[in-house]
Amino acid sequence: MKSLSAKIAAVAPSATIAISDKAKKMEREGIDVISMSIGEPDFDTPKHITDACIDALKRGETHYAPSNGIPELLSAISEKINRENGFPCTPQQVIVACGAKDAIYEAMEAVLNPGDETILLTPAWVSYEPCVQIAGGKVVKHAVNQKTFQLDDSILEWVTAKTKMIVVNSPSNPSGAVLDKGSLKLVADLCLDKDIYAMSDEIYEKLVYGKEHISLASIGDMAQRTITINGFSKSYAMTGWRLGYAVAPVEIIKAMSKVQQHSISQATTFAMFGGVAALRGDQLCVEEMRKEFDRRRKYVISELNAMGYETAPADGAFYAFVKVAGDDTEIATRWLEKAHVAVTPGSAFDAPGWLRLSYATSMERLKEAMDRIRKIDAH
Ligand code: PMP
Repeated sequence: MKSLSAKIAAVAPSATIAISDKAKKMEREGIDVISMSIGEPDFDTPKHITDACIDALKRGETHYAPSNGIPELLSAISEKINRENGFPCTPQQVIVACGAKDAIYEAMEAVLNPGDETILLTPAWVSYEPCVQIAGGKVVKHAVNQKTFQLDDSILEWVTAKTKMIVVNSPSNPSGAVLDKGSLKLVADLCLDKDIYAMSDEIYEKLVYGKEHISLASIGDMAQRTITINGFSKSYAMTGWRLGYAVAPVEIIKAMSKVQQHSISQATTFAMFGGVAALRGDQLCVEEMRKEFDRRRKYVISELNAMGYETAPADGAFYAFVKVAGDDTEIATRWLEKAHVAVTPGSAFDAPGWLRLSYATSMERLKEAMDRIRKIDAH
């Protein structure tokens, strides 16, 4: 038979699969594995949000909706951006997709031509590279400073005539770092000087601890060339709803809309009413979850530091990024086999020598996990 798509064959399978498969197998065998590898809040979606969705279903909001999103949600998002993110946004500059991941994929398809280069800052979240590849683009990786996790002039070395886009993700998955104004200004200057588009994935914007979240599009004229990605999964504990969005100049939204019209059509109609309730409702739930993550963060980081581990600045998201001496995949496997604690090797994010520990699990389980690591630890 003829071979399948070479483009998809070139996409590497997720580097996290081997270890998570092993963790699942151990669980099936009855072993109590503590998962610190999962990238989702352990909270349920706040009730006023699920109620709004149930009401929408009961009202019969079960039909096709406008492809870019229901008008109420497009307005709620543009109001939120104007209010909180420091750059102007109209509802025409918004597209709602099936999760931020889908919005990222559509944006790559909309912007990249075959061979166009996209700079990824590593450590980088696992799906950026495949999305660039599927869109036919070429990934160029630039490692951030592994002490500060901020940017410096060395980023200029990676710019070529073919550079079309740069992706920034602050707060970062996996490092938990929050880019400061200086780093974002460097990106902005680069994009404005060299005519480069930016994708700014701000999905963890609400989960910052003592640092300020700054939107890249709020700097200089960056709103004219930035695709801001955001969603409901992390801020409102809505991972299973598959609801995310992009905010960008109208021409980019129109191109993304074509991808959307011919693929997913739209995000789920009644789920979008939940999104409206999330953005327009009381934001106390967001703050309560943030505070709980902060409590866990302080605990996990101080425990790891007390064990002698160096950690990246854990200023945002819900990950501790831990430096290890030796092969990260081997160490993650050892932690899983000996301590029954599942973590993600940094190699999955192009950061060998690090482990990512998610603290989006209960304090009780985190305490147990830290005890287990301490016991087997002989690093
Ligand atoms: N960006 C980053 C940095 C993420 O960590 C995730 C989820 N793991 C996403 C995007 C995708 O989120 P969503 O559930 O909205 O697709």
